[in-house]
Amino acid sequence: MRDGDNLVSHRVIAKLHDEQVMSKQLSCPRCDKPGLKTWTELDDEEREVVRRLPASAEYSLSERQATHQWCTRCWYEKPATDEHG
Ligand SMILES: [Zn+2]
Repeated sequence: MRDGDNLVSHRVIAKLHDEQVMSKQLSCPRCDKPGLKTWTELDDEEREVVRRLPASAEYSLSERQATHQWCTRCWYEKPATDEHG
């Protein structure tokens, strides 16, 4: 009987925080592609499209710029999600 030989000390340090993986990439509920963009991530051309989206009738532009996200493939507009509580 030998002690020691089978002592495999696997110290797997998995300190990957979920927030890095989870919160960044939201997928579009309409076309199911990841990568909804915030206003600051849109380029000038995309911002022009956003200004013409139907949601502009419902929300003010400043509100949309601050809280909404867009899918640049199908132009789904995702409103703010702070509705829990
Ligand atoms: Zn989409």
